[in-house]
This record gives sequence, C-alpha cells and structure tokens, in this order.
Amino acid sequence: MAWRSVLLIDPVASDSPREDYADTFHSVAPDAPALRVGDLSAQRGDGVFESLGVVDGHPQEVEPHLARLRHSAALCELPEPHLDQWRAAIARVAADAPAGESVIKLILSRGVEHGPGPTAWVTLADAPDSARARTEGVRIATLDRGYALDAPARAPWLLLGAKTLSYAVNMAAIREAKRRGADDAVFVTSDGFVLEAPTASVVLRFGDRFITPEPHAGILHGTTQRSLFAHLAQRGFETAYETVPVADLQRADAAWVLSSVRLAAPISAVDGEGKVVDRAITAELNAYLLSPRD
Ligand code: PLP
Repeated sequence: MAWRSVLLIDPVASDSPREDYADTFHSVAPDAPALRVGDLSAQRGDGVFESLGVVDGHPQEVEPHLARLRHSAALCELPEPHLDQWRAAIARVAADAPAGESVIKLILSRGVEHGPGPTAWVTLADAPDSARARTEGVRIATLDRGYALDAPARAPWLLLGAKTLSYAVNMAAIREAKRRGADDAVFVTSDGFVLEAPTASVVLRFGDRFITPEPHAGILHGTTQRSLFAHLAQRGFETAYETVPVADLQRADAAWVLSSVRLAAPISAVDGEGKVVDRAITAELNAYLLSPRD
C-alpha cells in the first residue's frame, strides 16, 4: 500500500469546547517511526479502527464511520473520541488525496501501558485496485466462526460487532479461503447461518428483495451496506435484515460482499460451486457507491 500522509493526533476529551485542533495534529513522514513499542495496539491489538473510501478527494460516509468508531470505542471501554477533532483530522489528510480512489484509516489505541491516555492517528494511502473483484467477482469459501447465532448475547466480552484492531483471525480466514481455492471467506455460525466476510458485509438478492444478516448476530454493521440499502429503498426495492441460512448463499439470485474500499464485489462461486454474476446491477451498485456520499 502506498502511504501518502500520516497524522498523529493528541486525543482531546470528548467534552472539550475547543474549535481548533491544529496544535493536536502532528504530521510524520509515512516511513518515519511514529509509535512507542509499548503501544497496546502493537502489543495486543487493543484498539479500534475505521477504513473510509476516498473518491477524488471526497471521504465517503464520514458520519457513519465516526458513529461506528465511537460505538467500537464504547464496547472496548476506550475514552470517547471527540468527533469534531476526528472530522478535522479526516479533512486534513483528505486534502492530500490525489484523483481516483484512496483509503483513510482512523486508529484509536488504548495507548502505552500505564501511559497517559489513548494514542490515535489517521493515515491516507492509495486504494488497492479493485476493478477485477468488482467486475469478475470473488469466489468465497464458507468458514465456521465457531460460535452459534446467540454468542454475542451470551458472551459480550468477545466484542463481536466492534471494529477492533485484532484482525489476525480475519486475516487467517482469508488465507484459509485461498488455500481452498477461493478469493475470500464468508463466516457462518456453528448452527448454520451467514454472518459476514472477514472485511465485508454480505448482501443477497431474491428478485426485487435485498437482504443482509441481522447485525445483532455479532457482525459489524457495514456502512456500505447501510448506504446501499438506503439507495435501493429509494429505487423501490425492498430491503431487510434477516437470519440467513447458509444455503441461501447459493439459492439467492445474486450475492455480493460489500465494503468501504472494494465496494460491491459480486460472489461468483460458493465453496467451489459457480454462481451467476449479475454484471449490470453490480455496475449500477458500484456507480452509486463511487458517487460522493455523506
Ligand atoms: N464486516 C467486517 C468484519 C469488516 O471488517 C468490514 C469492513 O472493514 C465490514 C463488515 C464492512 O464494513 P464497511 O462497509 O463499513 O466497510
């Protein structure tokens, strides 16, 4: 990934009445050392993050990403982020974005062990090329996440539904999917229901009806899926959150994995069985997702 800007942030308290944050931001060269080795994000993956798509300098869906950052921080009992400060940091790095697609990451770490408070930073990097995934699609392998559908209610300390920095499991799932000849994974519950991909939400189409797994089932509520559902509803399609049996991945007329940077990638195979890619509607969905969205 080609990094363009790195901005370290001195987080201010969420109730700070400040209006200017310039002195709380410190630009560092993308290849310069910037973190203490004792930072708990590095030691334990103890922190939360967000990845926003940027199209021609416009950061997409800033408010939904900030709301989710705050929600993840609350689930992890991290100090509440001051959203105006984060908005200002996003605007500052977005100003460096070139034409085309980039990625902004927001990272809030618990900070150095026994240190004064959280550490935080924002980065801007070039987006990876998703053209092939958006047109040809991705082959997915379903992988058991090892939890039943009711796990989030029974075990809230698993932090299911928070976007934490602990993505080693998610990355291991993608490697396992690749070992199985697929491009990406879709996690399913031990009792046979669809959850999400390791870095994306799952949306299925049955006729004029679009469905996605219920977010209370311990998945991250995707900003892209929400934005797309609002758009589809405006176009007269029905949208719904449901409990989705695994067999529906193959039964659906079409299916996608959706995320902020790759956007809508149609699912072209499920566990080695081919699935028809609806190129026309996929192109329409991606045209919408690439338009400026707030
Ligand atoms: N689910 C997981 C586990 C993710 O990591 C992501 C995004 O990174 C998503 C879903 C999709 O979320 P969004 O559309 O907000 O990018």
